[in-house]
Amino acid sequence: MIIDFHCHIGDKGEWAIKPEQKIARMDQYGIDISVILGGCYKEKGVLPTAFSSRIADCRRTNDEIGKALKFSRRFRAFAMLNPLSPDAASLLDYCFRNLGMNGIKLVPYVLRHPVYCEPVFKLTDRARQYRLPVAIHTGFGPAEIWDPPTSVIALAAEFPDVRFVMLHMGSGVDISLSTFGINQAIEGACRHDNVYLDTTSMPYPKKVREAVERVGSERVLFGTDNGGWDREYGGQGGNEMEHEMDKIKYAGLNKKDYENVMGRSAAVLLGMKL
Ligand SMILES: [Zn+2]
Repeated sequence: MIIDFHCHIGDKGEWAIKPEQKIARMDQYGIDISVILGGCYKEKGVLPTAFSSRIADCRRTNDEIGKALKFSRRFRAFAMLNPLSPDAASLLDYCFRNLGMNGIKLVPYVLRHPVYCEPVFKLTDRARQYRLPVAIHTGFGPAEIWDPPTSVIALAAEFPDVRFVMLHMGSGVDISLSTFGINQAIEGACRHDNVYLDTTSMPYPKKVREAVERVGSERVLFGTDNGGWDREYGGQGGNEMEHEMDKIKYAGLNKKDYENVMGRSAAVLLGMKL
């Protein structure tokens, strides 16, 4: 079973791909299940800048994903939330109870909130009540002062019974500094067994292998971060499916570890029957 643990869907902007198009793409690449993570909508090349638009984005994003969940049982989803928004807790309730989502996703570097702060503690506590995993963008560089791996590690240490996924395993968007972040992510996951690593956007097969050897394939998750349907956004619609899949192949894992990373570990995290 192959599970794409990290991808996107939407009706406009860089993540624009319809559910039926996403299913066709999954079939093309042999992917059984796709986990849709909420992402900030942005028009061509423009990040939302007004705080109010960032708040509104979350509800809109989650409703779009909710439609995809209704469309096919091959989708799972993580709700995008802004911890600083007054309606964050009620939006989490809505996404879990009404839309049937499977976890929450935070994007601190876009929404500009720290990972280690009271609003995130409160939201994490609520996720714990629902037994939902918490996925957080991580990176290391000027754009990502908000979400370095160490901040997720600190959070994971305080909430040992909540499972955290470090998206991009510390690599983030500032690739020039990525090895610092990747190494921190691997160190943190070694020391906290409630921390999982998502391989998307992280450029090095050898670091996938290192993560599997040191952390264990049960906590390393394949994903594509694939979104936009076409190239109209200058390659900003997420990553190439093939590239992300090849990266795991080139890591030189044994059969059991490969199968874990490609889907089995995500299935366990999502509570799916195997
Ligand atoms: Zn993403």
